[in-house]
Amino acid sequence: MRALLLYQLDLSGTASVADSIHPVDPREPIVRATDLGVNRGDGVFETAVVRHGRPQALEAHLTRLERSAALLEMPSPRLDLWRTAVLRAAAAVSAPDVLRADELASIKFVMTRGDEIDRADPTGWVLGFAGNDPSAVRATGTSAVVLDRGYRHDVMQTSPWLLQGAKSLAYAVNEAALREAVRRGADDVVFVSSDGFVLEGPRSTLIARIDGRLVTPPTEFGVLPGTTQADVFGGIADLSVGTAALVREDLDRADALWLCSSTRGAVPVRELDGVARTRDLALTARMNAVLDARED
Ligand code: PLP
Repeated sequence: MRALLLYQLDLSGTASVADSIHPVDPREPIVRATDLGVNRGDGVFETAVVRHGRPQALEAHLTRLERSAALLEMPSPRLDLWRTAVLRAAAAVSAPDVLRADELASIKFVMTRGDEIDRADPTGWVLGFAGNDPSAVRATGTSAVVLDRGYRHDVMQTSPWLLQGAKSLAYAVNEAALREAVRRGADDVVFVSSDGFVLEGPRSTLIARIDGRLVTPPTEFGVLPGTTQADVFGGIADLSVGTAALVREDLDRADALWLCSSTRGAVPVRELDGVARTRDLALTARMNAVLDARED
């Protein structure tokens, strides 16, 4: 992955949108050592994929940024500023002199709680990346292991301070789970709750096809509302879709499984806990055609 461009945002709310977006060389440091995003992982973020110069599912990402900020009790993000900055970054990163024809771009946008010492405003930036090509993994699929996340399925209701369901910057646990998957000879993870309900991947939403229906775990179980899964469900008109409380055995019963995320799209699961799984490559291709054709 290459970082291609960076905008630093002024989140004080005192300047106009145009005057709040400042281009910076992506190799230049813009975050202080006392920033709470850096030293406590205290902040929220989003990653959107860019196609044809536009970020896909931008409104859904902005809505989720707002939701995550509310769960962390941070100031509500000024959405017109974030929208403008992300659109501008997506267009700039897609210019032919910036992005090679064989590359796909993505935009990561981050809002931290701000500085530990001068705690005035949140810190914000928008970063354009290149180099993510999901075509191979979409075709071959991924192998996953089921890991216990250690929280009950109702953790959002019983213990909201654990921030399950928020896209916070604190991803060290998710990264550790992915390392555990590698140790077990797999690429990816499907989390289950401590009381046995299927949740999500560390970077993806699970879709299962069970009895001809596409289902995903409900967000009330402390999983992120996936923008990719939502667009798959919206775009596959001839299949019944919905949420379902699934347990581990339901994954064995499912005749196909996918892990979905913005940067990779719909990726079929080819192996779960060492057992080979059937991939529906035709439906996978349809899902990804729906995703790749999104204008917004
Ligand atoms: N769940 C988690 C924990 C994630 O980190 C992500 C994406 O990064 C997703 C689900 C999928 O979300 P989206 O499809 O909006 O990228």
